Amino acid sequence: MSDSELITKLVSLCKRRGFIFQSSEIYGGLKSAYDYGPLGVELKRNIAAEWWRSMVLEREDVVGIDASIMMHPDVWKASGHLATFSDPLVDCMNCKERFRADKAPKFAPGTEVTYPKGGKKGGEQIKAKVGDKGYVCPNCSSTDLSDERQFNLMFRTSIGPVDPLDAFVDQIQGKSLSKKELREKLDEAVRSTAIYLRPETAQAMFVQFLNVQQTMSAKIPFGIAQQGKSFRNEITTEKFIFRTCEFEQMEMEYFVEPGTQKEWHEYWANERMNWWKRFSNSKDGFRLRAHEKSELAHYADATYDIEYQYPWGWDELEGIASRTNYDLTQHTNLSGVKLSYFDQQKNDPATGKPGWRFTPYVIEPAAGLTRAVLVYLCDAYSEEKGVDADGQEKVRTVLKLNPRLAPMKAAVLPLVKKDGLPEVARSIVSDFFKAGINARYDEQQSIGKRYARHDEIGTPYCITVDHQTTQDQTVTIRDRDTTKQERISVAHALEVVKKRIAEA
Ligand code: ATP
Repeated sequence: MSDSELITKLVSLCKRRGFIFQSSEIYGGLKSAYDYGPLGVELKRNIAAEWWRSMVLEREDVVGIDASIMMHPDVWKASGHLATFSDPLVDCMNCKERFRADKAPKFAPGTEVTYPKGGKKGGEQIKAKVGDKGYVCPNCSSTDLSDERQFNLMFRTSIGPVDPLDAFVDQIQGKSLSKKELREKLDEAVRSTAIYLRPETAQAMFVQFLNVQQTMSAKIPFGIAQQGKSFRNEITTEKFIFRTCEFEQMEMEYFVEPGTQKEWHEYWANERMNWWKRFSNSKDGFRLRAHEKSELAHYADATYDIEYQYPWGWDELEGIASRTNYDLTQHTNLSGVKLSYFDQQKNDPATGKPGWRFTPYVIEPAAGLTRAVLVYLCDAYSEEKGVDADGQEKVRTVLKLNPRLAPMKAAVLPLVKKDGLPEVARSIVSDFFKAGINARYDEQQSIGKRYARHDEIGTPYCITVDHQTTQDQTVTIRDRDTTKQERISVAHALEVVKKRIAEA
């Protein structure tokens, strides 16, 4: 199976089986927006729950918050997002594609390329040399490109019952203004009520640093974690759910003593790599890449990316940045509230006297939740060749999701819809429901088709109620990956599944 085939098959499976749908599909869809269907939402929640468990519930040194998506606009001034959170945008003069310069195909300046006029298939072929910027249009390979211009990625909206455009109209009515003056007046009017949808969850952890530290009496080193939606007006939206304008993140800010950031950076890189691998089939699909000096964000003294081998190649899944004390310092400067920490046990290194007040350094493991859904779907998708009961060749499609992540943990299947078998199956399902384990009663179609359906959606265990059940109170439990079946007692079905999930 080729790489592009894998994505095509995944997209089709996701739609057919209720994992992911195009947003507003009946209206032709909205570019780069997706809805998570009944199975997709379970998979996404399971990944989020595992992250929360390992980052917050199983640790003494990390607590969680759930902050509002809309924040005071000064947050984005202090963080630098208003001034610098932008992408270099370029227009292709040949095919009219708009793209990000930093993501365009690279060539050495002067390399000769050929592209079709107007970007049309079979159009007249034009030969040209790659310019000084060293890239071409990702759509048609043309070198006929506009200059780069910076485009801020934050979604701006306004708060309050006053429409800023009314003030704008009042101000300009009857005046003859140049384009530049009009733009300035418009910006001024909009700015008074402007707020932004957060482009990352991280800033709330900095802004609430003191509240959290004091209410929880947290001692450094400690972390604040959060999961939630973020929004970026991304230009290049491609590759299914890899990059979308609305997405979810799982981020944690770990506050440490100055001078210890290097060792904590290594610690978190290691922790996070192990976490991703723990739920995957192919551990080689993940790698840690240290940023070159030239790649580092202005606030970071080191950064690792955890990359995954997507069908199109290695690409980012999580960033682990050593953010120095940049954010707390910036928020201290703009708000006037001192975001610092006092350690009574330590001597101040500057004076040698007991008690040290410092601005903590920060290590930030920042992962994409919606991107994680894509990663685990790619990792899980497999096709196995076999033969059916009639000796015909067939392909078994299996989503080998870790049982902890699988949307449904067990399917309970009466062999036939009579002879008291549905009643037994329903009572087993009801035990699962009571235990809070997602199970499904399924009596539609032949047993073979039901197994195939549950293989395709990643259900790890199929419990079949047959005629023997009514005689000896046993059922079969079928393992999704090996297809092996064994008989267990009805009374133990729930415990067996629980134990296997716990050990997965
Ligand atoms: P990229 O280089 O892919 O644009 P980034 O370096 O800007 O990502 P961060 O700001 O470090 O990303 O965000 C942390 C994580 O959030 C990323 O590793 C990714 O998993 C996720 N993420 C960021 N932007 C998006 C997006 N537009 N759609 C989906 N996930 C995203």
